[in-house]
Amino acid sequence: MLTLYRRVKEGNGKWRAEKIREGRAIRTSTLVGPFFVRPFVNGVQKRHPLHSTTFAEARQEADEIEKLYEAQSRGLTVNELTAMQNSNRLPLRTVVDTYLEQKKNKAKKTREQYSLTLNEFIEGLGRIKFLDEINVAALRKYKDFLTAKGFAGKTIDTRINIVNFLLKKNGVEARLPKDEMPVVETEAAVPYSDDELKKLFGEMDDEEAIRYKFFLGTACRDKEVTYAAWADINFDKKTYTVRGKPDEGFTVKNHESRTIPIPDTLAAVLKARRKSNPSARWIFVNEAGVPDNHFLRKLKRIALRASANCGQCRTNVTKGKYTTKKQVEVSCATDPVCEHIYLHRFRKTCATRWQEAGVPIRTIQHYLGHKNLETTALYLGVSDSEKVRDKINEAFGD
Ligand SMILES: [Zn+2]
Repeated sequence: MLTLYRRVKEGNGKWRAEKIREGRAIRTSTLVGPFFVRPFVNGVQKRHPLHSTTFAEARQEADEIEKLYEAQSRGLTVNELTAMQNSNRLPLRTVVDTYLEQKKNKAKKTREQYSLTLNEFIEGLGRIKFLDEINVAALRKYKDFLTAKGFAGKTIDTRINIVNFLLKKNGVEARLPKDEMPVVETEAAVPYSDDELKKLFGEMDDEEAIRYKFFLGTACRDKEVTYAAWADINFDKKTYTVRGKPDEGFTVKNHESRTIPIPDTLAAVLKARRKSNPSARWIFVNEAGVPDNHFLRKLKRIALRASANCGQCRTNVTKGKYTTKKQVEVSCATDPVCEHIYLHRFRKTCATRWQEAGVPIRTIQHYLGHKNLETTALYLGVSDSEKVRDKINEAFGD
């Protein structure tokens, strides 16, 4: 019950606020206004004046206002709130808030993703406000809402799956039928074209260039570059040995260390770099001097500057800081979010070059750290169409 206040004019003509005490043996029927209440809205105490002139009316008005705020905070109308209080229905707002509360120990990125998705779920459902209203039709409506926003199949699939976690947790069995789930295109990593590489490297400074040349020259995975140590480089043989770093929690995939040849030009640049850092442990460090693990994020920024983005990708990102923080939809035409720019393509480019240069497939398998030859065969399966164009034309009879 909201506490009632009233304004009282003092002898000196000034107004002061008086808290009204209620209870047995406290006479309130003769009190007159102006009355007001001080409800908490989103954790902030507001002052809300009342129209009523008598105490009895003010009490009733305050109760209605309390209900209104309560309904608002749950995303309901007052009628819906009353209906809910007379039954045992769970509003989706409450269900989502409770679920997000349970996820508060997860990584920041995960929490933001869950919060964005589930708030959007409520928005997309429109007038559907209770957990017991979630059925296949409601989920279709949500999917249509996401589709209308122009999201890619992969994004829609991810969001529906997050909603499914929420439903499972709350014992709701309705799911979108499998054949209605969005088509997720899995793009096999495509080697970078010479033109793309020229654009990307043309935009890099020396430090950036040596990092991504290392990716391109060794076909290493992201973490294998992050945890590359000087001790792993053999300058005489010009090789890099990928080794686990147990003290950093880094283990090599398939638990097999391997040795990869480094191209001469890259080896020379690394040697010069070693001379100026003779006591360092790590080859690629960030501002804090620890192994850099933001190669992907930085590559995406470089690609944007180099106009190497496709211009078609759309996604949501968090912009602003502290109080101005909000989710906004952006395109890869203006932001570093192009889905076609990623580190694995350097690995693919390098492997493809090895193949074209005639390096035996067994050797390529070893350099890539593949456990099975089959993986390597699949990996190198399809040639770049430009490289086989002459043969294609020939076969066509031109
Ligand atoms: Zn793009």
